Amino acid sequence: MKKAEGTIISAISGYYDVEIDNKVVRTRARGVFRDRKQKPLVGDRVVVQLDDQGMNYLIEILPRINEIGRPAVANVSRVLLVISAVEPDFSLELLDRYLTFFAWKNVGVVIYLSKSDITSSGRLKDIQTELEYYQRIGYPVFEDAEKLENELPKMIDKDQIWTLAGQSGAGKSTLLNKLESEAKQATGAISTALNRGKHTTRQVTLFKYGSGFIADTPGFSAIDLFKIKVDDLRNYFYDLKEASANCRFRGCQHIKEPGCEVKKLVEEGKIARSRYESYLKIRQEISDNRMPEYLKK
Ligand code: ZN
Repeated sequence: MKKAEGTIISAISGYYDVEIDNKVVRTRARGVFRDRKQKPLVGDRVVVQLDDQGMNYLIEILPRINEIGRPAVANVSRVLLVISAVEPDFSLELLDRYLTFFAWKNVGVVIYLSKSDITSSGRLKDIQTELEYYQRIGYPVFEDAEKLENELPKMIDKDQIWTLAGQSGAGKSTLLNKLESEAKQATGAISTALNRGKHTTRQVTLFKYGSGFIADTPGFSAIDLFKIKVDDLRNYFYDLKEASANCRFRGCQHIKEPGCEVKKLVEEGKIARSRYESYLKIRQEISDNRMPEYLKK
C-alpha cells in the first residue's frame, strides 16, 4: 500500500476527490474521523492510502491553517477581493471591514476594483487616489481585468488556495466564471468534480489555477467581525500596527492615550484618516456588540 499527500478538491456524500500531483483520486474517509468528530473539508491537506483495487482511503487530515466561508474552505492563503467602483458604490468603510476580517483570519488580500469602465472619470480618479494608499500599505490593487488575469497565475504559489470575496453585485461570479473557463482551456482538463451544478445544497469545489487552486464559490458577502477581541482589533490594521511600535504605551489602543504615534500620523496625513475612522467605528461596534443595519440583511 502506498501513501500520498494531496488536497481535497471536492466532497460529496462521503466521497472526497483528492488532487495528488495533478491527478485526481477518489477516496472515502476512514471511520476514525467520525469517531474524532473531525470532518474533512475542501481545501484540507490530507494523507491518502492508495490501493491497487481502487479502494482509496483518506487516513489523515493535516493541521489546518484556517477555515473560512460558507460552505467552508480550509487553508485559504489569499482572497481576491472584488470591490466595485459603482453599483454598488465604492465604500472605503466596507473595504476596511473586509481587510480587517481577512487580516484576523490571517489571509492575504489582493484588491480588484470592478466596474471602473462604467465609472465617471472624476469619481474614478478619487477612488484610484484612495486605493494608492492601500497599495502603499501592502495590498496589491488591480482595476484592469486583463492585467489581473495575466498576473494572477504568477501570484498563486504551489498548492495555494485562493477564494473570491466581495459585496454582492460587485461582479464576483462573472470574474469567477471567466477564470474557471480560462483555467480549463489552458489545461485542457475536463471537470473531474462530482455532478457539478446539480447539487441541492451548496457545495464548493477547487479548480486548478496556476500552480494552485481557486475555490469556485462565489465567495461571501457577509462578514462578521464580532468574534474579534476588541483589544486585538488594532493588530488587523497593518498601517496602525506598524506605527504603534512608536506609541508611548505598549498596549496603546490609539484612542486617548498620550504620545500616540498613530494619532500623530493621522494628523500629519501619513495614515489615511478614513482608516483611523474605520478603526474607531469597528472598535465601537465590537465593544457595543452592535452590528450596523446594512450588514444585517
Ligand atoms: Zn497609539
